[in-house]
Order: sequence, then structure tokens, then C-alpha cells
Amino acid sequence: MPEMKFCYCCRVHHPLDQMRLFPTRQGHRWRCVRSIEAAVRSRPERDAFGQQQTVINRDAASRTAEFARRLRHSIPGSA
Ligand SMILES: [Zn+2]
Repeated sequence: MPEMKFCYCCRVHHPLDQMRLFPTRQGHRWRCVRSIEAAVRSRPERDAFGQQQTVINRDAASRTAEFARRLRHSIPGSA
């Protein structure tokens, strides 16, 4: 029987030859090759989503700035 390691991603044990030490914020954890490859494949979609969020945030920030500018100019006697 091959040596088994606990996969923190799948939360099950896999044979050691399918496992890699994966760096996480808590240190190195055992994770299977399959879950690592699945995460790499899904990354372009996540990056596209992240970029979209950045644009939305920038747009919201510039609208807020514009609103504040108009608000200052619309107060009588404040200029
Ligand atoms: Zn796994």
C-alpha cells in the first residue's frame, strides 16, 4: 500500500506520488497535483474578473470625486 498524505484542498488522503508541498499563508501544506492544476487552469478567468472589478472601482471613485466637486460649487457663498 502506497504512503498516503492528507490533501488540505480536497480534505481526503491521496497517494504520496500525487502530492506536492504547496506554499500557503500558513506555511507549506500537502496538496494533490490535480487540485493545483485545476487552480492554475481557472486563473485566467479569475484575473479577468479582478480586472473588471478594478475598472468598476476606479469608475466609482471618479464619480464620487466629480460629485464632491459639483457639491462644493453648488453651495452658495462657498466659492
Ligand atoms: Zn487533493
